[in-house]
Formats: sequence, C-alpha cells, structure tokens
Amino acid sequence: AELNDHNLVDVTNSTLSYLRQRISKGIELNFNTELEEITTKMNPLLYSWVIENLIKNAADAMQNKGVLDVAIKAIGKKIEISVSDTGPGIPPKLQHKIFEPGFTTKKRGWGLGLSLAKRIVEDYHKGKIFVYESSKERGTVFKIILKR
Ligand code: ADP
Ligand code: MG
Repeated sequence: AELNDHNLVDVTNSTLSYLRQRISKGIELNFNTELEEITTKMNPLLYSWVIENLIKNAADAMQNKGVLDVAIKAIGKKIEISVSDTGPGIPPKLQHKIFEPGFTTKKRGWGLGLSLAKRIVEDYHKGKIFVYESSKERGTVFKIILKR
C-alpha cells in the first residue's frame, strides 16, 4: 500500500459516517475539527481501519452505551486526532500492555486491534498512537499524532 496526499478531515468524516450506521443506537458519535482541510500523506484505508478499531474498542468498553468524541486539531506541523469515550477506563496496571499483540481482556478477543493500529500509525505513517488519559471517572482518550 502507498501513502498519498489526502484530506484527513474528509477521510475521518466518511469513516465516522460509515460507522454511525453500524454502531449501536445507544452510542452518540460526535466529530469536531478545527479545520475543514488538512492535507497529509496517508493511506486512507489503513487509517480508517485504525479509527474503526478504536471506536469498536470504545463501544465494547462502554457496553454500547455512551458518548464518543472524535476531534482533529492541527498544532503547527502536527495533526492530532483524539478518540474519547465515556467508558470505564483501562486499569493502570494494564495500560502498558494493551498495544502488545495478543493482549485482550475479552472472552472472544484476539488482542490484535491495537498492535496493528500501532504498526499502521507508527511504522507506516511515522506517527504516534498512545493512551492520553484513562480513568474510571473520565473514560479513555486515545491520541494519534501525524505530521503535516
Ligand atoms: P481486542 O479488542 O481483541 O481485545 P485490542 O488490541 O483492540 O484487542 O484491545 C486490547 C485491549 O485493550 C482490550 O481487550 C481492552 O481490555 C483494552 N482497551 C482497548 N480500548 C479500550 C477502551 N477504549 N476502553 C477500555 N479498554 C480498552
Ligand atoms: Mg479491538
């Protein structure tokens, strides 16, 4: 697969519209962006897959009831995509393990979503993906940082 110039805002917006039709009705999926156009070298298919996985994980964690906020900000040459949920958070003891291949807390999980997401963002797009914050009270925020 290749990296080509795309408008990250459009790609994110289409991914979320697609997911909104498939996600549980109990989940509110919001999108906020500072800019309408942020062009960057990316693979839209792989990027969409990452977003879809973050959202599916959040939906699982929230047991299909809650609020999901996806936001895009441009800070200098950096693009920040955040995915925030109102779920129960990731226990501090497990936070360093979640990107390991095969790590899952689900009965029928493969534990591959986040490890693949990390490879797609970091090895492929030379960006970063990490848990920005996670607690029982405030839920979980994942961030992806890409370069413009
Ligand atoms: P899987 O979804 O198959 O379990 P992932 O790699 O996608 O594998 O996720 C690994 C684990 O990280 C999950 O099993 C879950 O324990 C934790 N996790 C991921 N996202 C969230 C989230 N938004 N809230 C709480 N826990 C999460
Ligand atoms: Mg998953």
